[in-house]
Amino acid sequence: SAMREDRIKKTKTVCTYCGVGCSFEVWTKGRKILKVQTHAEAPVNGVSTCVKGKFGWDFVNSEERLTKPLIRKGDTFHEATWDEALSLVAKKFTEIKEENGPNALGFISSSKCTNEENYLFQKLARSVFQTNNIDNCSRYCQTPASAALMRTVGYGGDSGTMKDIANADLVIVVGANPSESHPVLATRIKRAHKLRGQKLLVADLRKNELAVRADLHIHPKPGSDLVWLSAVTKYIFDKGWEDKEFLKERVNNVEKYKESVAKFTLEYAEEKTGLSKETIIKIAEMIHESKGTCILWAMGVTQHMGGTDTSTAICNLLLVTGNFGKPNAGAYPLRGHNNVQGAGDFGTMPNWLPGYEPVENDEVRSRFEKAWGTTIPKKPGLNNHQIVEAITDGRVKGMYLFGEEMALVDSNINFVEEAFEKLEFFVVQDIFFSKTAQYADVVLPAAPSLEKEGTFTNTERRIQRFHQVFKPLGDCKPDWEIFRDLANKLGANWKYSHPSEIMEEAAKLIPIFAGVNYEYLEGWNSQVWPVKTNGEGTPLLYQDTFKFTDGKARLFPVDWTPPHQFGEEYDLHLNNGRLLEQFHEGNMTDRSAGLHHIVPSPWLEVSEELAKERGIETGALVRLTSPYGKVKVRVLVTDTVKGNELYLPMNTRENIQAVNKLTSSYYDKDTHTPNYKEAAVKMEVLEKT
Ligand code: SF4
Repeated sequence: SAMREDRIKKTKTVCTYCGVGCSFEVWTKGRKILKVQTHAEAPVNGVSTCVKGKFGWDFVNSEERLTKPLIRKGDTFHEATWDEALSLVAKKFTEIKEENGPNALGFISSSKCTNEENYLFQKLARSVFQTNNIDNCSRYCQTPASAALMRTVGYGGDSGTMKDIANADLVIVVGANPSESHPVLATRIKRAHKLRGQKLLVADLRKNELAVRADLHIHPKPGSDLVWLSAVTKYIFDKGWEDKEFLKERVNNVEKYKESVAKFTLEYAEEKTGLSKETIIKIAEMIHESKGTCILWAMGVTQHMGGTDTSTAICNLLLVTGNFGKPNAGAYPLRGHNNVQGAGDFGTMPNWLPGYEPVENDEVRSRFEKAWGTTIPKKPGLNNHQIVEAITDGRVKGMYLFGEEMALVDSNINFVEEAFEKLEFFVVQDIFFSKTAQYADVVLPAAPSLEKEGTFTNTERRIQRFHQVFKPLGDCKPDWEIFRDLANKLGANWKYSHPSEIMEEAAKLIPIFAGVNYEYLEGWNSQVWPVKTNGEGTPLLYQDTFKFTDGKARLFPVDWTPPHQFGEEYDLHLNNGRLLEQFHEGNMTDRSAGLHHIVPSPWLEVSEELAKERGIETGALVRLTSPYGKVKVRVLVTDTVKGNELYLPMNTRENIQAVNKLTSSYYDKDTHTPNYKEAAVKMEVLEKT
């Protein structure tokens, strides 16, 4: 009624932006968002948020929202009913499947959507369409970190929580910029450093905000992190500083691993990383002197040819020094999107069913098959990089993508766009008509988090529930409803009427979620997986055992893969990363007025040395050329970057497109994560100031 419309409504939600997972109340009146109100009981952030959580919600009511399903006719799109749109998807996908087999279909899931939606999407791909060709965007960022953790300690997640990070003696941040990417976490680190004397070591090409405050900021040559990490580990062995008891009781493969680091001498490290021997020794001493060390890392580590191996080197160093299974220590890959962790946890991966259980394992598969009443293909499917390749050579003909802007965020986008044009049938489901949607045959209008119910899992494995604030706009539907309705068009008879029922099914099937349920998650409650049947979570992993059959961790020998060389002509290294005020490709933040205005137009960070050498100043216009593309951009001369290293922030639609015109199709050898951080360019000056 009109009366009710006038009332102020307060609804608990979880931030839709980064992996920190702040929760707060949204105050609304009708469809108007009045404010975001924090609460001391919020498990991650208490009364803190960053600008995105506080002001980043206008996009929900943007005029540009999709409100109706669209069907392509020739070069234009026409509005359609849900029945028309879903019938067409069902018909086309069935035809492709019948003519070419189920593996001619590909499914790309969303790390911005809920756990329940990710679970349902992989169920749709595997049980209804009979393919494991499913992946999510962590392939672009954090899959190497998960793979490394699974090699060494067993679970693909942070080993403790942000409380452990705040209470550690020493925090090491490698290739990450929490001040801009995980702001509330950065605040906690800054506070611990200032008030408690926590030691802080930052390894980064840029003198970012944390690097400025750090006790030690190191600047290794691009792509050489594995070398200094391994050299530090070797030095620790040489000095006899390894945690002998821990290694004896809890870790396998110690001797073999020790042999494998023999080559990482101080001299070798000095040559390959450019860091002095004294610096390597200093790092080893800092770790030796601390009671507990947490290592945090992100895309500066993972987006390389050897991203998984470098992540593994981090885990190895932590194992050798006994920094797992105790409070205030451990491994912390920082997840980018709000639900990168959950998308992987709930099985939108080609080789893993939900709960990181191998799809090839007959016992695992039969558990899911029984519950779903269908078969599941045994062979692991294609990851999203392989799906794009398979489109190019005609093996994959139909694709379903939701909540992802692949035409902006994939590396070497010219190549990706060409692939999309070859698709016989392409379904894109989103809240906006994204750049990717331009290639679609059917566009389905989805609902953002404020218009639905569900759970997200943050970077520390914490599952939190959020509630519906608004009814979906126009004809929009929550993503899970769309999957259900499509499955039912194909005869699946899925009866879910609320996401809680999806979680109930998942909890029954997946041991690490055994005790997860919506009642437990009422109010400000949260659960950190693995969750026992009684609802009790596990904020700190590996206290008694590692996740291997004998309960022991494994040291995993790795070797260095030097970064890709693009030829002498491309004489400058190009780095890229996030901005505080903006999020990822900017599809949401660009449309939030309060955020758009505080971000200046795109710029390129150029070092003082290079600016002098090329005779340019701030404001100059340059053209960057890589072997893959060209972009024009304005220059900002700064001491944040050094020498021949450039930095291009990537968080507007304009900028990310610029970055990814320059990046290549090379990737991490273990996971196919693109080597975004290994771009090389040449720079021509178009205007000097
Ligand atoms: Fe918190 Fe991240 Fe959201 Fe900022 S963007 S409010 S740090 S969850």
